[in-house]
Amino acid sequence: MKVYRTACPLNCWDQCSFIVTVKDNTVISIEPDPAQKITGRFICAKGRKHISRLRRPDRLTVPLVKTASGFQPIPWPEALALAASKIKEALNRYGPLSLLHYYDSGHGGLLKNIESRFFSALGGCTVHKGSLCWSAGLAAQTYDFGAALSHALDDLYNSRLIIIWGRNPAATARHQLPFILKARQKGARLVVIDPLHTATAALADEHISPRPASDGALALGMAHLIIKEKLLDEAFIRERSSGFAAYRKMVEDYPPEKVAAITGLPVGQIIGLARLYATTGPAAILLGYGLQRHSNSGNTIRAIDALAALTGNIGVPGGGVSYANFQVAPYIDSSLLEGEDLKPQRRYYPKPCLAAALQHQLKDPPVQVAYISRANPLTQVGDSAALKQAFAAIPFKIVSELFMTDTAAADLVLPCTAFLEEEDLYYNSMSHCYLNYGPKIIDPPGQCRHEYEIMQALARELGATGFPQLPAEELLAKLILPLTREKGITLQQLKAGPLLLPGAKAVPWRHGPFATADGKFNFYAPAAENEGGTALPHYQAPRELSNSRLHQQGYRYWFVTPHPADSIHSAHRLPGEAKRPRVYLSPQLAEEHGLAQGDRARVSSPRGFLEAEVSLSPKIPPATVMVYEGWWEHSGAAVNNLTSGELTDLGNQAALYDCLCKIEKV
Ligand code: SF4
Repeated sequence: MKVYRTACPLNCWDQCSFIVTVKDNTVISIEPDPAQKITGRFICAKGRKHISRLRRPDRLTVPLVKTASGFQPIPWPEALALAASKIKEALNRYGPLSLLHYYDSGHGGLLKNIESRFFSALGGCTVHKGSLCWSAGLAAQTYDFGAALSHALDDLYNSRLIIIWGRNPAATARHQLPFILKARQKGARLVVIDPLHTATAALADEHISPRPASDGALALGMAHLIIKEKLLDEAFIRERSSGFAAYRKMVEDYPPEKVAAITGLPVGQIIGLARLYATTGPAAILLGYGLQRHSNSGNTIRAIDALAALTGNIGVPGGGVSYANFQVAPYIDSSLLEGEDLKPQRRYYPKPCLAAALQHQLKDPPVQVAYISRANPLTQVGDSAALKQAFAAIPFKIVSELFMTDTAAADLVLPCTAFLEEEDLYYNSMSHCYLNYGPKIIDPPGQCRHEYEIMQALARELGATGFPQLPAEELLAKLILPLTREKGITLQQLKAGPLLLPGAKAVPWRHGPFATADGKFNFYAPAAENEGGTALPHYQAPRELSNSRLHQQGYRYWFVTPHPADSIHSAHRLPGEAKRPRVYLSPQLAEEHGLAQGDRARVSSPRGFLEAEVSLSPKIPPATVMVYEGWWEHSGAAVNNLTSGELTDLGNQAALYDCLCKIEKV
């Protein structure tokens, strides 16, 4: 038996540190590493599932090429030569912008990102801006504070009030929950704001359920009352903020009665929440990703940030508006990863609009070769029917994958290693500030290769001399050079176990200026205006949810697709792995449509449909249809057949929750 330390590579808030026990190249157990103080007591079922996933019989183990008679195995040298010849042909005929590089967060290893440098070494590529999951909130917090930083979880013990706004840690960030519950035991009041009655809402002292996408109006209405009743922190506003006068004037337009009409909340509840937040300090707000998946979400986050500034809940223990936590990332050499020194050409498109971009924008030159890794866009990007069509038109698609996902069924499939089969380094930008080294612990099955090795081989074939040919360990040491120089942490030290970033701030913005241009919290953000937005946060009705024409056509229900507890995006939806997909409805809505528990229902939007079994729940709001995200096409319940490829107001983020649907019995 041998015991190793590593970390969970999944795109999860928590990034647990693991102790892995191995015998004869077989993983015996994965347990929490007690040296990591946030996740050291337990890991979730998805973490334990790694063991069986790695040895599933349907794991891709040899390169495959698509032929007229289906996928055929192909030796690695031939697969690499084929990929290189297609890339070379595209480069010669159309130049580097005819190469599309699509990646996402399917694996959290640092080294995986070196693929970006590969394309820079070829002269550049077409690549996305923004994201499917969190960039509206990041843009908003960057305009307001200059960066997105979170309070340490144990700082919640200093809070007298905790507002969880659009986050469901009971399902998706399990390691946050013990901190929240302990803070509550210590006397903090817990309020959950969420249109859905989630598992976290069930634990709260108060659950406030506004209409979907009306949260921005709620925040502006709270600000209206806080200013009117002079419940402000005038010293903070005077000394640490800018643009307050314009903001004050703007929120005059959000009296509680108007906000009640928008949110569907009683006037008394809005007033009560505003007074509670302004008078029960320190008060912490924990923001979730669901909150920023609507067309108006960036400004929603900005309106909530402003509440904290109004009341002086910034830079104080127990306060803050915690969303993401970019404390470790500045100590990684991202320029080395991206290959900026190679002066690549780049053509950008907004990531959620991939289908529309391929059909209309990316024409000169047209995309000739797509390389996709750590991602399953045909399942996860909105308006997936349009995307499938657009993808089909790309002459050659290469996918590196563990399994034959909806996207992996491409022209050339390269089997890659999984996290225990490769060396890498892990850190988190969502919650805590721990770093973990992950050694290669077991041999991969068949002929799987690390993406870094695949890129090295392709770079040699293509004569791309700007791509490193160093061993992985040496490259990792180079990538963390800023960390070594400024914080004294070396790869050798990380090999001994998880390390907390020295000097990680438990209370961001406590001292010194904010990271904005004027060093202040920006109620009025010129940077937002310069980038095409509005300098003040504002409320705008959600584009599709308030579309009366669609309502008239029968699309009357909010189609919401939250993250489930049992899968990270589409990762744990392999055939036979997941339970059956379900459509969750309130009993009233089901009755209106003659549906009963267990019936099969068709849910459709103007873009597509899915079918699944009905599950009734009194916790689902009446005009809402909920299906968890991540289902593959074969399940019949691929949710992004229905969602759109539209953007939110800030950050090139997918507005996946701004979706109307209808429902009928099959
Ligand atoms: S999925 Fe999240 S909670 Fe589960 S083991 Fe991985 S990091 Fe931990």
